[in-house]
Amino acid sequence: MKRYQTIFLDVFAFKKHIFEYGFSVLFISRAGFEAAVYVRQTHEISDLDKHLLEVFLSSISVGYENVNLFHELRNAAFRDWLTRLPNRNEFINMLDKPHIFSCENCCVALIDVNHFSDINDGLGQEVGNELLRAISDRFQASFDDSVKKGRIGADVFGLIGPESQVSPENINAIFQSSYQVGDHTLPVNVTVGLCKLDNKRNIGIEILKRTNIALNRAKKNISDNFEYYAKDIEDQTTWRLDMIRRLRNDFGARKLELWFQPQVDLLSEKVVGMEGLLRWPDGEGGYISPAVFVPLAEYSGLIVDIGEWVLEESCRRLQQLRELDYGDLRVAVNISIPQFRDRLFVDKVKHALSEANCEPSLLELEITESVVMDEPQIVIDALRALKEFGVKIAIDDFGTGFSSMSYLQQLPLDRLKVDRSFVKDIKPGASAVLAETIVTLGNKLGLLTIAEGVEKREQASYMIKLGCDEAQGYLYAKPMPFDALLDFLKKQD
Ligand code: C2E
Ligand code: MG
Ligand code: MG
Repeated sequence: MKRYQTIFLDVFAFKKHIFEYGFSVLFISRAGFEAAVYVRQTHEISDLDKHLLEVFLSSISVGYENVNLFHELRNAAFRDWLTRLPNRNEFINMLDKPHIFSCENCCVALIDVNHFSDINDGLGQEVGNELLRAISDRFQASFDDSVKKGRIGADVFGLIGPESQVSPENINAIFQSSYQVGDHTLPVNVTVGLCKLDNKRNIGIEILKRTNIALNRAKKNISDNFEYYAKDIEDQTTWRLDMIRRLRNDFGARKLELWFQPQVDLLSEKVVGMEGLLRWPDGEGGYISPAVFVPLAEYSGLIVDIGEWVLEESCRRLQQLRELDYGDLRVAVNISIPQFRDRLFVDKVKHALSEANCEPSLLELEITESVVMDEPQIVIDALRALKEFGVKIAIDDFGTGFSSMSYLQQLPLDRLKVDRSFVKDIKPGASAVLAETIVTLGNKLGLLTIAEGVEKREQASYMIKLGCDEAQGYLYAKPMPFDALLDFLKKQD
């Protein structure tokens, strides 16, 4: 035994074959790898045999190199270069074969490092890379081999393992203390999406998609930083995407309608203007509520084009009203935040007015408190420019948002719309404190006030008593198509 050992060592030391009686030890070297092959023989080998062995050895070493190359290729395709963890492809492969990581109640988690790009941009990519390696190390140290780890995206890690281990608590524990990277102490926050695996045969990419849906939902979560996948989230997402697609089609096919709800002077009950309200026909004789589809239009950005159309349509209607001798009626248009983010918004409003040859003061823009709070400066700047042009501004649903008084004072407001919920509170013989406070505030700010959602006589009388100027609600008229509005106005005459 000892003798063989020495011979093997000699082969490696002198990088040469050794031929002895009864056996040979052959040396192979290729692409940085060395090997020694022991060949037992029954007779002394000839020079020809030696030649044949050389050829054989070179074939083996090429084969060996191929195996090695293949190994490296596999690593490149399935390993993350930075952390050496399985990458997204390999993670999906593992999810395809859950039986290989035998766990009863398995759970998948995606862990997204919050604001990672800030670290990359602010402290440099090398610090970012170090941090990712440090996070990977903590995952390795905190979860044993029954939990598979992976790096799924630039700043997203993945875990697969028993529910008892892959839990929000255990994951969050890893980020309890800060990370030390070079000279930097970095606190790290994460968002976690989780998906429990059922016993059905699942497809890896599908599970990853579901976990991603949970992750996206978790990002919107206010109280916790994690969310488990539930089918209703996916159904909701599918429903939303489908509605957006249909809305885009129907808007393109000019199927949206703009209806109008009269606004009256509270004392005389004469129509002084109207609010334009979108209607989306559902194809079966009904209408989908703007309360449902306007948020979808905002989410998808479609509201920018739809809103532009609403402005143009409103101005055209103003023009028609003027031709019919209702030239002093105004129209109010609801404006959403994405419209303000459109750099051309102010120009679009002016253009719509001038195209229809309209008096700017007959157009009123309605914005809610949340619109102002979202992007105060953009909104204030745009409204000031439009106010200067002569357009009127109303604050919608007043009292339901969390208004900042300082923003309110900076806005060039004309009118305050008392939200329906406060008008609803008005009951015979009782006082409605909030309605009263809001009307008083409006008066103090020098604004006109209009009560929304007036349905009952006693609500109208109470609002008159408070000193409210105008009203809008089913007591006077429901929203109606433009032609119906013309009939309504004629009857009033
Ligand atoms: P909003 O601007 O507060 O509009 C008033 C809503 O109250 C309208 O609902 C109207 O039909 C309803 N309403 C009016 N009087 C009464 C009443 O006496 N009782 C009750 N229960 N409701 C009354 P609608 O038409 O469903 O619109 C809902 C919301 O959709 C609007 O609230 C507005 O925020 C949004 N919206 C409608 N059209 C547009 C639009 O063109 N652009 C944008 N951005 N949003 C719009
Ligand atoms: Mg409104
Ligand atoms: Mg309103």
